[in-house]
Amino acid sequence: MDNTCLFCRIVAGEIPATVVHRTETTLAFRDIDPKAPTHVLVIPVEHYADVAVLAEANPAAAADVLATVAAVAEAEGLAGDGFRVIFNTGEHGGQEVFHVHAHVLGGAPLGPMLAGR
Ligand code: AMP
Ligand code: ZN
Repeated sequence: MDNTCLFCRIVAGEIPATVVHRTETTLAFRDIDPKAPTHVLVIPVEHYADVAVLAEANPAAAADVLATVAAVAEAEGLAGDGFRVIFNTGEHGGQEVFHVHAHVLGGAPLGPMLAGR
């Protein structure tokens, strides 16, 4: 665990979060500032900075994150109408929290993939 990492502290229970799904290797909780009617973050419980580091260091954990994304989409009622999964990565990707997380967004049509394009 990285004590300076917000999401490690959520995993440790030091910072509250609205957890919607939990496995041995992943945690899913609601985004504090939702950008869609449903906005859930899915993380590996172990700390990896971003999706590229995760895929390189622990492909099994990367697969577990995707399986949890699918479980969350199903449980949140998004599977039928569809949803969007985003891994913001690095500076150009707009990543703000450097513990890899999948944004699972849905509950309404989400519009164009990128604003202003
Ligand atoms: P990113 O820009 O991809 O790094 O996304 C970070 C996300 O974390 C943003 O959507 C924030 O709203 C969300 N966030 C920040 N702090 C918290 C928190 N304490 N609990 C839940 N979500 C958070
Ligand atoms: Zn972390």
